[in-house]
Amino acid sequence: MSKKIAVLPCDGAGKEVVPEAIKVLRAAGADFDFEEFDVNADAYLRDGVPITPEVWAELAKADSILFGAVGDERVNHTNYLAGVLLRLRFELDLYVNLRPAKLYDDRLSPLRREDRRHVDLLTVRENTEGLYVGMGGRFKKGTQDEIATQEDINTHLGVTRILEHAFQVARREVVMIDKSNAMTYAGGLWQERWKAVAAQHPKTKTRHLLVDAAAMQLVKDPSQFDVIVTGNLFGDILSDLTAELVGGMGIAPSANINPKTGRGLFEPVHGTAPDIAGKGLVNPVGAILSASMMVRHLGDPQMADAIEGAVESAIRARECTRDIGGSLSTSQAGDAVVKRLKY
Ligand code: ATP
Repeated sequence: MSKKIAVLPCDGAGKEVVPEAIKVLRAAGADFDFEEFDVNADAYLRDGVPITPEVWAELAKADSILFGAVGDERVNHTNYLAGVLLRLRFELDLYVNLRPAKLYDDRLSPLRREDRRHVDLLTVRENTEGLYVGMGGRFKKGTQDEIATQEDINTHLGVTRILEHAFQVARREVVMIDKSNAMTYAGGLWQERWKAVAAQHPKTKTRHLLVDAAAMQLVKDPSQFDVIVTGNLFGDILSDLTAELVGGMGIAPSANINPKTGRGLFEPVHGTAPDIAGKGLVNPVGAILSASMMVRHLGDPQMADAIEGAVESAIRARECTRDIGGSLSTSQAGDAVVKRLKY
């Protein structure tokens, strides 16, 4: 039976890259039933809510969600982001955020030393807790006595399940990253759960790094990393860094999944890219590779490999957009991937 895919292109660059991902999925022969929903800034301004209850009911039923990016200067960014992307992550309990970084072509590396350019790592980011849950407040707002708090939420269940997932996807090593020397309460819980979960996986190599040391090591020698597991904030920041190590925001994919329910939302790491949106300059590769992650999640690793292989081949041939050294438009870059599909 064909899988039901809810499509949410949203705003700016998202509207340009999601159609390219669908084009590639169709060309690959994916047995998907796509349904696009009107979730975007225009709909928010019209309806007064980021997602209407009717649309939410449909999204909650879909096998997977293919997502672009949200953001528009006409709406309050925090409320809009919380009402769409964070709501989907939190309410569908998509607690695993996978952000792979793979160097498909040597010329995309910013590193001078050739021996350090082999990058094929995966960030496993906790996606439903941490500093992003929106707890806290501002007291005496606007006065010189103002106090602002932002709560960092870490639960036994949340920390344990993300650590366990990291071991499930590791090939040779899991590196846990925190700031437990300064953030002792949250860090204490991460450290305790880390030791307990690692003890259950004695065959996998493990290492702990403080986030500052990890940032340094990622730039110094990214080839040393396999799987990184970390909290919501550090995962967000470090995965932008790892994206730059392999060619930039235009090619970074991500998956938001709940391995227990099977639910998933797949999106490029980049945002709406207002500086280049609407001009045919946006790179569709991040969205196409996110679609490949969706195919893999839905149980077709062969098709996922075929899409990834076609992307790699197009990038190597420089049949790609300007940000990664080509001269093609968004749509032409999507066509170049389709042309190379061997499946
Ligand atoms: P958001 O706040 O929505 O996460 P952001 O401020 O992080 O967005 P992005 O939209 O991620 O910004 O863009 C950051 C930079 O990367 C911009 O200069 C943008 O032009 C570039 N960029 C982002 N996405 C792409 C893409 N698909 N192709 C090419 N360049 C991109």
